[in-house]
Amino acid sequence: MLHFWVTMFELSRPERLVLVVLLAASLAGFSTRFVPILRRILAAKPDADFSLRPIGKRFWDFFWEVLLQAKVIRERPLPGLAHAFVFWGFCAFGLVTLNHIALGFGASLLGPHSFYVYLAGTFAVLVAISISGLFIRRFILRPKWLGELSYESGVIALLIFVLMATYLATFWTADSKSLWWAHTLALLIFLPLISHTKHLHLVLSPFSVFFTRGSFSKIPPLVVDNDGDDDFGLVTGKDLTQIVALQAYSCVECGRCTEHCPANNTGKILDPKKIALGVRDYLNDFGPASDQPLFGKHLSQEAAFQCTTCGACEYQCPVGVEHLPIIVGLRRGAVNTGKWDDTYGTKLFLALERNGNALGFSSAERDKFIAKEQFPIFDGSQEYCLWLGCMGAYDPQGREIIAAFAHVMRYLGTTFGVLSKEKCTGDPARRLGNDLVFQQLVEANLQTLAQSKAAKIVSICPHCVRTISTDYLEHAKDYGQAPPIEHHSEFLARHLDRLPQSAGENIVYHDPCYLGRYRNVYDQPRAVLARSGVVVDPPRARERSFCCGAGGGLAFLGEEKGERVSHNRARELAATGAGTVAAACPFCNTMFRDALAAVSPSPPKLLDVAQIVAASLPGKNEML
Ligand code: SF4
Ligand code: SF4
Repeated sequence: MLHFWVTMFELSRPERLVLVVLLAASLAGFSTRFVPILRRILAAKPDADFSLRPIGKRFWDFFWEVLLQAKVIRERPLPGLAHAFVFWGFCAFGLVTLNHIALGFGASLLGPHSFYVYLAGTFAVLVAISISGLFIRRFILRPKWLGELSYESGVIALLIFVLMATYLATFWTADSKSLWWAHTLALLIFLPLISHTKHLHLVLSPFSVFFTRGSFSKIPPLVVDNDGDDDFGLVTGKDLTQIVALQAYSCVECGRCTEHCPANNTGKILDPKKIALGVRDYLNDFGPASDQPLFGKHLSQEAAFQCTTCGACEYQCPVGVEHLPIIVGLRRGAVNTGKWDDTYGTKLFLALERNGNALGFSSAERDKFIAKEQFPIFDGSQEYCLWLGCMGAYDPQGREIIAAFAHVMRYLGTTFGVLSKEKCTGDPARRLGNDLVFQQLVEANLQTLAQSKAAKIVSICPHCVRTISTDYLEHAKDYGQAPPIEHHSEFLARHLDRLPQSAGENIVYHDPCYLGRYRNVYDQPRAVLARSGVVVDPPRARERSFCCGAGGGLAFLGEEKGERVSHNRARELAATGAGTVAAACPFCNTMFRDALAAVSPSPPKLLDVAQIVAASLPGKNEML
């Protein structure tokens, strides 16, 4: 027989008084922490480039990531589902909680046998099972990504379990009043704990997911403020923006970002979770109006410069924390205030300024290569502008990739030309925080492109594609908009029907970060490779691909601390037993060139997608 408390008791006047006092104390406990946090977020610098548009995408992301919890489930299916049930249970218990408090004052929102009572009961069972599972995972299985044991998590889990158990017990027990009080006390203890612990994400994460920057890994522009003060990036608390502050307080400390971080996985001190928590701790200690440097007790400059900008952290985060704008912002701050003193970095910036390329060669070397390969200069009559990039123009292996791709274009009858005055896109300067050098390169390249009247660009380098298609937009109003650019694997995939098909050996494909996570291009290179062999994936593939270690300008910096990222990845690629490793980025190619030899006594062949296609063409077998 059902003994639901809705009809079973009435509180006395003294009991109601106790309830009012406890309720007020609980709300005060919540507010004493929540209000100052809200003030800190609102007092931070507004994000100058923030726009709600496209609003439809924001609502979709909110529906998908918050309401459906799809991202959490997709990335960690079992714990993700458990977490989702807890979340959905919380939503279902919103009405139950209102009804519960109303009952204390003699009112009722739900009938004792209403459908909703049983629906909430079903959720209570699911939440109780889920929270028990999450408790076992956190306190017994203890995956290292969750960090040190958090006793507050244990208390919260216990309270959630008590809330569910006391609700469910009313279906069988006649002593409704005791249960009502037990449920009430658990509720009133739980409320202030939300704002005082990482469970604040329950309140803030729907907002942090909705108010993201609008596109993956978007680096915000530097903006001169109303007083005419220059923006040097993230230097002090005054530079932290509202979005950064909101995200920092939304972090649920799940460690997903750390779990997938190539730097952290190979022994560097960089831990993306600590980037978010470092900003939070800084705001707690100093506030958003502080002149205290951000680097210090809470954030490390060394860690910021260990980031490959692979985007795995940002991709994984379930509450919308965008690590890259923070990390690049910190680098900007260090570079623009002269705090980053790195011999390799200085050499790179000088090479970019003086020679217009990251490898420091004279442009005459590029001219010689163009002449040797008999590449036509783009004159407006050709369909494509073939962007060489630093690697395609100067690096021996990059040159082989460009030559192979040009051969395929010729085979397909696609006309192309190269720019005589192309410079580095500025990608390494941009990601290392040197906006001055980046802007010089953008200006030169956009002017060259405008003069060339190129309508379409194709590139072998995902970093060039990303930088020209996205980062250049910031400067479009000053120097004109760059033409659309695509990666050569996209181009090749569109011409699939005209490429030869042959049965070949296993090819393991490495997803470059800037092609996969940044551009969402996963199927095209696989489809192209499938014309020449059997494509296999390494364990970490597609969205979960592990970086080669070159991004974020790190290809040009010195020795890495700990294990090399490229060795970690090369070991995984070699372990698949495939005869060929296929890459789709000249930086990945460079990194794996030595890494595969270092980790395997009989390393597989290493080729770019374009080289594999070129080798399949009539008379070109020597390219393999
Ligand atoms: S972008 Fe990549 S390397 Fe940088 S912190 Fe995130 S996961 Fe780590
Ligand atoms: S930043 Fe995101 S992924 Fe990383 S610990 Fe916080 S909530 Fe988890």
